[in-house]
Amino acid sequence: MIAIDQQTPIVTTQIYNNEDFGSHVFGQNIVVAVLSYLGYNMDDAIIINKSSVDRGLFRAMFFRPYKVEETKYVGGQSDLITNPDKDVAGYRSEAAYKYLDEDGIAAVNSHVNSGDVLIGRVSPPRFVSSIDKFRLGVQKQVESSIECRTGEGGIVENVFVTSTAEGNKYVSLKIRQDRKVEIGDKFGPRSGQKGVVGMLLNQEDMPFTYSGIIPDLIFSPYSIPTRMSMAYLLELIGGKVGALGGRYIDGTPFIGEKEEDLRNELLEYGFRENGVETMYNGITGEEMQVKIFVGDMTYIRLKHFVANKIQWRARGPIQLLNRQPTEGKSKSGGLRLGEMEKDCFVAYGSAMALKERFDSDKITIPVCSKCGMTAVYNVRKKTGYCPIDGEDTQIKLIEVSASFKILLDELKAVGIYPKMVLGSKV
Ligand SMILES: [Zn+2]
Repeated sequence: MIAIDQQTPIVTTQIYNNEDFGSHVFGQNIVVAVLSYLGYNMDDAIIINKSSVDRGLFRAMFFRPYKVEETKYVGGQSDLITNPDKDVAGYRSEAAYKYLDEDGIAAVNSHVNSGDVLIGRVSPPRFVSSIDKFRLGVQKQVESSIECRTGEGGIVENVFVTSTAEGNKYVSLKIRQDRKVEIGDKFGPRSGQKGVVGMLLNQEDMPFTYSGIIPDLIFSPYSIPTRMSMAYLLELIGGKVGALGGRYIDGTPFIGEKEEDLRNELLEYGFRENGVETMYNGITGEEMQVKIFVGDMTYIRLKHFVANKIQWRARGPIQLLNRQPTEGKSKSGGLRLGEMEKDCFVAYGSAMALKERFDSDKITIPVCSKCGMTAVYNVRKKTGYCPIDGEDTQIKLIEVSASFKILLDELKAVGIYPKMVLGSKV
């Protein structure tokens, strides 16, 4: 991530100056009001002025590198970075490869979206199946291209082609994406009072002071006492004095500018010495019943973006072993419905919704009604037999979860006889 438009903090320390942090600044000086507003800045959440964002506040660029190597395999076969042919196994569609140049790499400056192929690649077949052996020796190459991650479209910034120490061709490609501030993005001052955006408010809805100052950010006063981060409040006062006086403030602990001096200077500028001001509700226009603490301070945009973390799923891939939805964002996995979530469904009384949730790995297995073991069933002929009792029994089809079938198989594997006693409903 690269933040655009960085500013030197108004309040700095001697270490900051000695270590030359000013030559690589990382924050922006913004107007902060400490108050509860509309309930969208509960706990550590913050409200940000949407109009400030539209004017370019906290704009950032996000980069995502993709790397591919032409691996060589035993037997002389090798990957090939290229535009995959249509007869390659797993060929996507012509549209998916539309950004690839003749060399199989997406062209610089092309606008790619999630799912588009960035680097085309074909690999030798992984294992030769028994059927393929009889196909006149022609083995299909497998498509193994690198595609743009979901939700991370952007512009191809640069392409870098080289070779590894082993002599394999190596391609790295970088995607650039503009990142405006959105709800859920993370921000923090240097005192560590980090929080996520709970609401972006237009400036006309934001509270304003007597002199017409509209804050860029609203911070909750309730997150100060528990954290004991006094630097936050002190920086707010220091920043206000610095902004009004047009100078930098030395905020070094113990030896920096005295709080008392800063307060007196604030008085000279015609403000209250404790930094509070009369504010008006931006929506109703009413004067607020209490004085609000307003000041300037440095805030930093942190690297955690919702755009990288947001995830949802309706239908999607399942695990091979237990037929339950896959886990994790990268595999577009499901959201776990655990014990406590189940209790919520039970308490609410939504039994059918609960059953549907737990049906995700439903399978039907044939069971012998005599011995209670899983039987063999021919779906087409609708007949079955039991490995123990043969045809001399009734085979019932029972709906169970795939994980229960695994349990049965595992019990049989260690020599335990899992007998299913079928009730009257079957
Ligand atoms: Zn049987």
